[in-house]
Amino acid sequence: MADLFQENLYSDYSQCFKKDEVLFQSETEHQELIIFRNDSFGRVMALDGVIQTTERDEFIYHEMMVHVPLFAHPAPRKVLIIGGGDGGILREVLKHPNIESVTQAEIDQAVIDLCTRFLPRHSDGAYQDPRAHIVIDDGAEFVRNCQDKFDVIISDSTDPFGPGEALFTKDFYAAEKTCLNEGGIMVAQNGVAFMQLSEVVTSKKRLKPLYQDVHFYSASVPTYIGGIMCFAWATDDEILRQNTAASLRQRFEASGVKTRYYNPEIHVASFALPQYVMEALATV
Ligand code: SAM
Repeated sequence: MADLFQENLYSDYSQCFKKDEVLFQSETEHQELIIFRNDSFGRVMALDGVIQTTERDEFIYHEMMVHVPLFAHPAPRKVLIIGGGDGGILREVLKHPNIESVTQAEIDQAVIDLCTRFLPRHSDGAYQDPRAHIVIDDGAEFVRNCQDKFDVIISDSTDPFGPGEALFTKDFYAAEKTCLNEGGIMVAQNGVAFMQLSEVVTSKKRLKPLYQDVHFYSASVPTYIGGIMCFAWATDDEILRQNTAASLRQRFEASGVKTRYYNPEIHVASFALPQYVMEALATV
């Protein structure tokens, strides 16, 4: 019988991966971490039994979490990443030539070290970029104490339990807002709408008092099972969600950023949400 990894995100619904080779498995200071190779998805990382990223489909998630806010913002220069230990978000942010600095507040040094070693294509040298400033800290602590301000904040955390729970609270969102420049954009991974709709609604409820424009955009990431992955979007400048594909294309082409999933048309379309999600969001 093949050695299987069974995800434990849901008690009654799961995905399995054949573990063709286990590359690393251990308890870090904060989480249980496994990295294994699967013939279909390449190298796979899971934290506390939940799939975080795979070599084969990571580009979808990382490109949509980064290029939607960075092309929507007229002139982003400073970015804050919360979490993101595998380095995929950092890699995509640093593709933008006009970005002057990226600060990353990641709670678990071991995730950075092990992903750099076993998933090198995720960070692809980004941790050595002089524009990257890595801080090992709980993201909730970091934003509480941070005096700096950023144009875009990207919260690439685990799901809202364990160490990730602190990154979905009202206090966190309020402290995070103090780190955003005027006209800034905050985005965050907010789970699979079909399976975690209550998390999407709860995020809107907690973000709405803080921002003029709170919405969600989506992408379907195969290994985040159950359908579209929703990304929280929050800004005080409502016009930033109204960029046309034509204006985004000018920025996209001028940047020279190469992608495999993101394009201006998908950017615009990603803000269109299914009716059941819209109706749930209308309740808050
Ligand atoms: N793409 C994945 C997803 O959507 O679930 C997230 C991937 S990334 C590996 C998640 C990162 O969040 C991990 O590196 C984890 O260590 C980090 N993390 C969890 N809780 C955190 C916290 N409170 N502060 C900072 N980083 C945190």
